[in-house]
Amino acid sequence: MRNKILVTGAGGFIGHHMVKFLKKKDFWVRGVDIKRPEFEHSSADEFLVLDLREKNNAILATKGIDYVYNFAANMGGIAFIETVHAEIMRDNVLINTHLLEASLINKIKKFFFASSACIYPRYKQQDEDISGLREYDAYPADPDNEYGWEKLFTERLCLNYWKDFGLETRVARFHNVYGPLGTWQGGREKSPAALCRKIALAKDGGEIEVWGDGNQTRSYCYVDDCIEGVYKLMSLDIRKPINIGSDRLVSINELIEIISKIAGKTIKKRYDLTKPQGVRGRNSNNDLLRYLLDWEPGILLEEGLKQTYFWIESQIEEGKLIKPTANGEDKLKGSGSSEQSRPVRGKKMMHVL
Ligand code: NAD
Repeated sequence: MRNKILVTGAGGFIGHHMVKFLKKKDFWVRGVDIKRPEFEHSSADEFLVLDLREKNNAILATKGIDYVYNFAANMGGIAFIETVHAEIMRDNVLINTHLLEASLINKIKKFFFASSACIYPRYKQQDEDISGLREYDAYPADPDNEYGWEKLFTERLCLNYWKDFGLETRVARFHNVYGPLGTWQGGREKSPAALCRKIALAKDGGEIEVWGDGNQTRSYCYVDDCIEGVYKLMSLDIRKPINIGSDRLVSINELIEIISKIAGKTIKKRYDLTKPQGVRGRNSNNDLLRYLLDWEPGILLEEGLKQTYFWIESQIEEGKLIKPTANGEDKLKGSGSSEQSRPVRGKKMMHVL
């Protein structure tokens, strides 16, 4: 019998890629999300549109399932997570708690949770040439934002569902996952997508706005690497959180140079120091990943950005840009306007494709 897999957040970026990956491996897959995928039809065998903040929906989603890959979350890029606090904590605590409990009720064999590098303490991320964050650096805890606190809470919830109830859980801390078919406009997009959009909209020799002084650093993991790492992690006996990220540290200025080269454009930068920037530097230490998985992300940033840039450029060429501005500048949408911020209680939604 084929294993039955639930992918939550299957209407979003990583979840959609995960469904495609699992279908290629010939699993039976149920996708669940509060919305359908925006850019491509889902290849899931069954797709349920459900609000996972409702416990009954979490129970329905996990019924008859062997393995759960949980990517559902109310989240976005730095502008979103530095502006929206209670909504992120409330929605994600509800989604994750209900899904863990439902997994126990429905006797799920293994549960994956997508945590984040945002759980790492701000006092370890104050320099741009930071050394990679090791898993044990998470404590004493002091995440930079509420999104990180919620992820840390759910990491602990996963561990304790295993300790107290025997539910097998796996947790990965993603470091800036990017690639095609992800949000690239509207205020929830992350830096690689936002910069690709700005550069695609700029003329050769033109100028783009950069948040901060551009010297802040990050590492970026291509989505195919992330998916492969998650899949490998699920097959192993590792219950403690583990980094899944690249350990190649680049500054935002370097990222812009790489994308400009891909676009074949010379780009001037106009720095806006009033815009949100997050921590000064963040990188992944992959020692544990290499040791336990005998693997680490290998797709070159230049190659991944090429895929991402040309996909975003094609979206623009197809007329998908919502609000063109002079520089293609970001415009953060307030939390109140999002689908996810509608009242939690009340109507349930369910459609089967
Ligand atoms: P995404 O926003 O594209 O996908 C999340 C999906 O969850 C969305 O499609 C959204 O509609 C869905 N969702 C939100 N609220 C829901 C609800 N109440 N019920 C059902 N579905 C709901 O984000 P992503 O980049 O694909 O991230 C996937 C997971 O990985 C998230 O848990 C995120 O926190 C984590 N993560 C991502 C990154 C990254 O760089 N992309 C980094 C660290 C952690």
